[in-house]
Amino acid sequence: MTEAVVRPTNFIRQIIDNDLAEGKYKTVHTRFPPEPNGYLHIGHAKSICLNFGIAQDYQGKCNLRFDDTNPAKEDIEYVESIKRDVEWLGFHWDGEVCYSSDYFDQLYQYAIELINKGLAYVDELSADEIREYRGTLTQPGKNSPYRDRSVAENLVLFTKMRDGEFGEGKACLRAKIDMTSPFIVMRDPVLYRIKFAHHHQTGNKWCIYPMYDFTHCISDALENITHSLCTLEFQDNRRLYDWVLDNITIAARPHQYEFSRLNLAYAITSKRKLNLLVTEKIVDGWDDPRMPTISGLRRRGYTPASLRDFCQRIGVTKQENLVEMSTLEFCIREDLNQNAPRAMAVIDPVRVVIENMSEGLNEILTMPNHPNRPELGQREVMFSRELYIDRADFREEANKNYKRLVLGKEVRLRNAYVIKAGRVEKDSQGEIKTIYCSYDAGTLNKNPEDGRKVKGVIHWVSTKFALPADFHLYDRLFNTPIPGSVDDFLSTINAESLVVKRGFVEASLSSADTSHAYQFEREGYFCLDYKHSSKDHLVFNRTVGLRDTWSETTAE
Ligand code: ATP
Ligand code: MG
Repeated sequence: MTEAVVRPTNFIRQIIDNDLAEGKYKTVHTRFPPEPNGYLHIGHAKSICLNFGIAQDYQGKCNLRFDDTNPAKEDIEYVESIKRDVEWLGFHWDGEVCYSSDYFDQLYQYAIELINKGLAYVDELSADEIREYRGTLTQPGKNSPYRDRSVAENLVLFTKMRDGEFGEGKACLRAKIDMTSPFIVMRDPVLYRIKFAHHHQTGNKWCIYPMYDFTHCISDALENITHSLCTLEFQDNRRLYDWVLDNITIAARPHQYEFSRLNLAYAITSKRKLNLLVTEKIVDGWDDPRMPTISGLRRRGYTPASLRDFCQRIGVTKQENLVEMSTLEFCIREDLNQNAPRAMAVIDPVRVVIENMSEGLNEILTMPNHPNRPELGQREVMFSRELYIDRADFREEANKNYKRLVLGKEVRLRNAYVIKAGRVEKDSQGEIKTIYCSYDAGTLNKNPEDGRKVKGVIHWVSTKFALPADFHLYDRLFNTPIPGSVDDFLSTINAESLVVKRGFVEASLSSADTSHAYQFEREGYFCLDYKHSSKDHLVFNRTVGLRDTWSETTAE
């Protein structure tokens, strides 16, 4: 039986449907074009799901192309991390990885073609002068005094640029379009600039590098891309995209379409700013679990499926928007509630002694790994006379809304017995050290025989068998909903974005691995931290709490 898959459509898919129906293209070919100047973030995940998702659904192709025209900011480390993140998200690029730098020779020839057509010239104004001559939104620009050089002179000067005979900033190649255009990008945009930088792919072969607007459209055409999808800030650049392709000799004719960026509340989605958090050591690397990077989310315990689900839910439109963190958290909770094995951990431990249980007795209890999925199996957990429970699960006095352990009352220990609290022992500061209890040996996973009702259930671990563990509890990294709009965004860091607690986990977690998260019963979803955890020192990252406390705290 085949299931009909309903795919949410969007304006880009509608354009593709029309293009295919009209026979404009036979198949769809998209690309994801990151600049390797940082690690990918959740905004890139949106673009990846869109581009690779379209290729998948239309049986087309999607390239991974590194847009590597700015060697000073780029690094092979970023190239590698980006490949890893795309694959981890569950996507496969068509053929080999592409690089804009693969096309430097061809781009150079296209620049020569424009010069020969009188459509490009070597300018020797300084960067400041170019800016000044460009005009503003309300004032037209004016022509550079170098604009009317002959073709022959431009060819000689451009060759000199390539041969390293000009210093950085001393000359550039510009398109000759219109200094009075209402679109500033069309006011003789720079096509090539001089940079004496080592390039991670082409080494020292070049000292002139093509600009994004010149490179991107030509790379798209050379790769036979049909639909070139980018974010809205490139809307005006589409005119230049089309101008370049209309004025050079190239067979394919891709088209650019723009959609709105993903902005996530309380997070930053700019590689440049994320890089600052790393270099200023405010976070523990690009993969710090508080970072909205794909690698950070992975280390935090997010799954590829949850991120794909998130991207599907937020959709693709042209509207600027701010997505709440709770939407992202909803997606990972949905996934982990279904799939995460359960285990017990006590994050803020207090000791319990069951006085009517003999000292040497250790009981092996068998527990399901998931309450509704028997196929996930069972595990054994040791029960003994001394336990830890969470400090918040006990009160000396409480009203009946408090369904946990209260002095003189009963509570059920998860997957174990009913216990009753008899008395407490405190230290000199008045803090409870030990809660002395008794247990009803006839209540293992069943109600008391005399019909007593025991409502609450709390989790526990055995002091003798449990393993010490650190718990990293994360909160939003910034105190303000749109940190990207604050000039000094580093001043809005939430000082409590990471709280480390020391507690205990059940012994079965000695064989925990980093491949998936666990639900620590009543505490939340946690995964082993691959960076700081070791056999002798378990460290768990809290992926997300069990409930959405976020919208409660932010709604004011
Ligand atoms: P950043 O400011 O983080 O460097 P960018 O747009 O310069 O962002 P690129 O590496 O050039 O980063 O982006 C690769 C692709 O991902 C582009 O097509 C870009 O439009 C898309 N993209 C980047 N950020 C977002 C976002 N927040 N939402 C959706 N798509 C994005
Ligand atoms: Mg960029």
